[in-house]
Amino acid sequence: MEVVNVRKIFGSGEGQVAALDTVSVSIRENEFFTLLGPSGCGKTTLLRLIAGFDFPTAGEILLYGQDIAPLPPFKRPVNTVFQSYALFPHMTVADNIGFGLEMLGKPKAEIKARVAEMLKLVKLEQFAKRKPHQLSGGQRQRVALARSVAKRPKVLLLDEPLGALDKKLREETQFELMDLQQNLGLTFVVVTHDQEEAMTMADRIAIIDKGEVMQVATPAEVYEAPGSRFVAGFVGNVNMFEGKIARGEAGSASIDAGNGLTIRTDNAGTAGAGTAVTFAIRPEKIKVSSKKPAEAVNAIEGEVYDIAYLGDMTVYHVRLDDGQVVRASTMNAARITEDPLSWNDRTWVSFRPDAGVVLTR
Ligand code: ADP
Ligand code: MG
Repeated sequence: MEVVNVRKIFGSGEGQVAALDTVSVSIRENEFFTLLGPSGCGKTTLLRLIAGFDFPTAGEILLYGQDIAPLPPFKRPVNTVFQSYALFPHMTVADNIGFGLEMLGKPKAEIKARVAEMLKLVKLEQFAKRKPHQLSGGQRQRVALARSVAKRPKVLLLDEPLGALDKKLREETQFELMDLQQNLGLTFVVVTHDQEEAMTMADRIAIIDKGEVMQVATPAEVYEAPGSRFVAGFVGNVNMFEGKIARGEAGSASIDAGNGLTIRTDNAGTAGAGTAVTFAIRPEKIKVSSKKPAEAVNAIEGEVYDIAYLGDMTVYHVRLDDGQVVRASTMNAARITEDPLSWNDRTWVSFRPDAGVVLTR
């Protein structure tokens, strides 16, 4: 599916809102694709345009190279799972799942067979005769899924499909959704504002901010090679240093980060001397130690300001001598820490020249 230069303006005159501002993404067949961004960034709007519930102000949406604008929603090979599930309360689980096929006027025997297949797929065989109110939240979610795949769409659109579930169930269901997508061989486009959820499930993520696509990439690329401050800050934890390239050649550079602090990096890209940059580095790529590491290219002195022991890892907040607080995390791979640090201890934070990225936007 190709979304090409799609704009969506709501309202008119003074009250105009550009919900989508010239968005282009291409989604591959059988891909698990997520749209990730903060509330109000335009995710639902894009999904509704793909589904055909609304029309773009400009641009086009192509499926297998064909513009789907003339097709009404029910003629598109696309189906939607709504956040609210929108199940019919007076119908049984089986009737809910068969509803779309019923509307298409499929023969009774075919509907029955397909409903049985769908019930098995979502492991709800025992619940066929129940009404939605007799189900748990997770089961209702599975009925909504089964109903939307019963018509065998090419693309399934899911708007915050796990938003109504509690944390534990949500994590389990993420894996179920991934299995389902693989077994069905469908293209999934899933909207979420939860970065962990997007990272867990997606083959690729489109990160959206204020109606603009900031980056489309795999979870690992988004995390390790964010293209902007927004993406770096939205996905995972990050430390940012503002500075200016002091000297640079062939990707390596020294960044003057103020107060006498110089950061050496191998990931300066094409940013030349004098460019204002942000140096972004993830907490797990920063080491804390009580003594200055002998060979570290980047080592900065500070004081332990806060320690959060989380069991599997420990997060240190270190206040550098210029006042900036840096977050560093250490996996607790052994039960005993060799170099224990305590509140207010003098400490060194150090990192390798390839540990961070240089951002210019
Ligand atoms: P998200 O799903 O990412 O939270 P939406 O796509 O629902 O965001 O909304 C994007 C922007 O468009 C918001 O500013 C929202 O207020 C606005 N918007 C959405 N639908 C309408 C509408 N029907 N009329 C006017 N503004 C709308
Ligand atoms: Mg939404």
